[in-house]
Amino acid sequence: MSAIDDLPPLREVIAAHQLSARKSLGQNFLLDLNLTAKIARQAGKLDECDVLEIGPGPGGLTRGLLSEGARRVLAVEKDSRCIPALQEIAAACPGRLEILEGDALEIDPLAHLTPPIRIAANLPYNVGTELLIRWLTPPEWPPFWQSLTLMFQREVAERIVARPGTKAYGRLAILAQWRAEARIAMSLPPGAFTPPPKVSSAVVHLTALPEPRYPANAKTLERVVAAAFNQRRKMLRAALRGLAHDIEDRLIAVGLRPTDRAEQVPLEGFCALARNLDG
Ligand code: SAM
Repeated sequence: MSAIDDLPPLREVIAAHQLSARKSLGQNFLLDLNLTAKIARQAGKLDECDVLEIGPGPGGLTRGLLSEGARRVLAVEKDSRCIPALQEIAAACPGRLEILEGDALEIDPLAHLTPPIRIAANLPYNVGTELLIRWLTPPEWPPFWQSLTLMFQREVAERIVARPGTKAYGRLAILAQWRAEARIAMSLPPGAFTPPPKVSSAVVHLTALPEPRYPANAKTLERVVAAAFNQRRKMLRAALRGLAHDIEDRLIAVGLRPTDRAEQVPLEGFCALARNLDG
């Protein structure tokens, strides 16, 4: 038994620190330590990595990450009420848990962590999508992170791993799959959380690829994909008209049908069009 295993159950921690869940902070806590350890294991081999955890709350996943052997964890939490509970975990594993009170959207993780870095989080859904897009669109590739293990609403998770020809396929799938391997690692019913959210959730695991699957300039690709899916019911030649006066010729030149719709275009088609526009 390690000192982390000697910490009190999460229900007692929540009662002791009066951590009633706040809707405004998207607080749906995971209190089952077997479950949080299982999520931590989805993050891969942790013993040679620093882990960035966003939104640790009372620390269920934090405890999982530490007991699964993370070298160091940086836990970034916006709710000051959670800090004393997290400090108890830090005291049980000296030097391995750094707690940062603040907004995950405003911190610089590299000021605190040493690569290789993995990211793990059970986050409010709105912040989660914004952070995911940020992590997928850094100024340079490969990014500072090796993998992302993130809880999402099931519907958002499906959009991240979606294949062409499905309703869920769109900008998020392309951003995620162009430079990462993305899969749904676990599904969780609402009852796994306290309080239970209205919908089911899923853990998505993304591994950064050393290089993009197909060459393209990131900014051009983002412009093409944003335009294509902004008007997803339109044919490509209409949706992409604003990108070039001769867009129809360019679509044909890269083997795409101008009358197709965005959801029919595979990732390599968007990359080919981005290269053509830059060429
Ligand atoms: N990880 C904990 C768990 O699994 O039980 C808590 C999960 S709860 C869904 C989301 C956590 O993110 C809350 O503790 C909330 O206070 C925190 N949070 C919300 N917005 C945040 C932000 N912008 N930056 C950092 N933490 C945030």
